[in-house]
Amino acid sequence: MVLAQLGGSITRALQQMSNATVIDEKVLNDCLNEINRALLQSDVRFELVRDMRTNIKKIVNLQDLAAGHNKRKIIQQAVFNELCKMLDPGKSSFVPKKGKTSVVMFVGLQGSGKTTTCTKYAHYYQKKGWKPALVCADTFRAGAFDQLKQNATKAKIPFYGSYMESDPVKVAVEGVERFKEENRDLIIVDTSGRHKQEAALFEEMRQVSEATKPDLVIFVMDSSIGQAAFDQAQAFKQSVAVGAVIITKMDGHAKGGGSLSAVAATKSPVIFIGTGEHMDEFEVFEVKPFVSRLLGMGDWSGFVDKIHDIVPMDKQPELLQKLSEGFTLRTLRIMYEQFQNMLSMGPLSQVFSMLPGFSSELMPKGQEKESQAKVKRYMTIMDSMTNEELDSSNPKLINEPRMMRIARGSGRLVREVLDMMEEYKRLAKVMKRLKIPKKGDMSALSRNMNA
Ligand code: GDP
Repeated sequence: MVLAQLGGSITRALQQMSNATVIDEKVLNDCLNEINRALLQSDVRFELVRDMRTNIKKIVNLQDLAAGHNKRKIIQQAVFNELCKMLDPGKSSFVPKKGKTSVVMFVGLQGSGKTTTCTKYAHYYQKKGWKPALVCADTFRAGAFDQLKQNATKAKIPFYGSYMESDPVKVAVEGVERFKEENRDLIIVDTSGRHKQEAALFEEMRQVSEATKPDLVIFVMDSSIGQAAFDQAQAFKQSVAVGAVIITKMDGHAKGGGSLSAVAATKSPVIFIGTGEHMDEFEVFEVKPFVSRLLGMGDWSGFVDKIHDIVPMDKQPELLQKLSEGFTLRTLRIMYEQFQNMLSMGPLSQVFSMLPGFSSELMPKGQEKESQAKVKRYMTIMDSMTNEELDSSNPKLINEPRMMRIARGSGRLVREVLDMMEEYKRLAKVMKRLKIPKKGDMSALSRNMNA
């Protein structure tokens, strides 16, 4: 994932600075140069990068910092705060309320990922207990209705559209009316995308909006346009009351940082980002947790939110309590179960990136696919172990002949079994240090980061 590369470069720059024996002007400049380079490569506007550097240098006046001040911490905090400032539009968006009908209209250019994102958005809320429905008001592109129908069917979401009707306003109104009657509480209207910002597209958007009176208009854009996102977002905002933005394809483009900061500059809140073609490759976007994850500092609130998504209500307090006591990998079976939990929480890269210190251990940035395969391989190997081996607090009990049997049984190499055992020891050490903060502590945590 390309954003991970940006995060990786910034984290490396901070790490290199931390490794220096003394933090002087040169070390600080080197660190800031690296961060600037990474941001510019991500297509963040030059002026923003320059201002960020000036601000950090103002805050971190090395000469004025008395000995004893933790310079590293102050610099890291300043970088964190400046990145947050860069991505914060200073405005929040309308949030649909469960049980109360909301109409949400999606707009954007063709190919931006609008139709895919409509279903991802509906699926996200459906998992949280909403009753969404999809309306295809794209009568311009042949095949648009079929695509929405296919996606909606896969996600088991009711849909409405027409093969015969060519008036998008009529289809939109009919669909919204139908789903209001059916007491659907989140009615999502997908509109036509065109190749470029053309007058006819904007006029159609205005008409659909007037007729359906959406509570929220979401503008969907492709991250590959980088800082050009500013002009595109402004153009859409001028034609229709855009209340939120979703940026797609954050997985594939080097310009993710540029598009995020450019949208923030238009004062439109980014609410989600698309990180892949799959329905679950969709993440809530909130500035502080995002920057925190980007810098490898973890995102406990996102992690806990994920747990709320997938764990049955009555099991949540128990699991959260367990997690708050720390992940002690006392046995291989516990590791197996943790892997299982995490795999069910969505793409592993998303889950691991929420755990401070953990992502870099098992999930090196930029190698998510390999790491996911590795976790599954470990699980296959553990499938060939005996209960006694899985429950032992002393895995040394697994001797060479047993290793060979396990390797044969799982169709893997002995070397891979050894690797798994090594990784287990390493993870057990890392996870011992991890503790999920309790709910109250979590806000303290974000306050600290913000301080
Ligand atoms: P529309 O014309 O704006 O409705 O765009 P579509 O929803 O048809 O999407 C265009 C292409 O982008 C499809 O191949 C989608 O699978 C793909 N796509 C959408 N969102 C993402 C994303 O977040 N990541 C990646 N890699 N592909 C995406």
